[in-house]
Amino acid sequence: MADCVFCSIVAGEAPASIVHRDAAVSAFLDIRPVNPGHLLVVPNQHATHLADLPAATGARMVETAQRLAATLRASGLRCEGVNLLLADGVVAGQEVDHVHLHVVPRFAGDGFGFRFPLHHGAEATRSELDAVAAAIRRAGESPQV
Ligand SMILES: [Zn+2]
Repeated sequence: MADCVFCSIVAGEAPASIVHRDAAVSAFLDIRPVNPGHLLVVPNQHATHLADLPAATGARMVETAQRLAATLRASGLRCEGVNLLLADGVVAGQEVDHVHLHVVPRFAGDGFGFRFPLHHGAEATRSELDAVAAAIRRAGESPQV
């Protein structure tokens, strides 16, 4: 896609420090790393949102991230843990309109973290959870649970 920085990287038209490349996905260092070794795994074909991605490509992204997480731990870079993060949509924090899975090496005291505010400040009741689960099942493809 024109004007997509990740498409340009995949095409070799923009610089990137690439660590993996196959027929479906590429992985390279994030230019704004949370920690050294912060990687992005992207599909080679442009897709804006997770739902736009062929399932096999999504699976390949996760498989690649899984392997890279293990590689980071063995790399000599400081890596005591790993976060995988995919921001799907602007309100979720997606800043580049090309699906990308962050692989973030973590260590104690690195300052990175997530906030998990409780909805309405309390645990949900079982009936609330069951109602939400029913709505998701109705919208999905596997209603038999
Ligand atoms: Zn793109």
